Amino acid sequence: MCDICLRSPCHPRCPNAPEPPVVTSCIHCGEHIHEGEDYYNIDGEPWCENCIDDCRTVAEADEPDYFED
Ligand SMILES: [Zn+2]
Ligand SMILES: [Zn+2]
Repeated sequence: MCDICLRSPCHPRCPNAPEPPVVTSCIHCGEHIHEGEDYYNIDGEPWCENCIDDCRTVAEADEPDYFED
């Protein structure tokens, strides 16, 4: 029995719990995506949350050039 969560097998949130199985890996950074984790499926390609955050940006129009002399 586990010393921390007093369960066998461990409670999923116990630090001693084994990692859940890897389901796939991020197409961008290669990070493993485990069972039960959130990820993004874009056109059939798995993306982890970190990479989606990196790609996320705010739409900004180009500087209007009519202010230039
Ligand atoms: Zn445990
Ligand atoms: Zn990634």
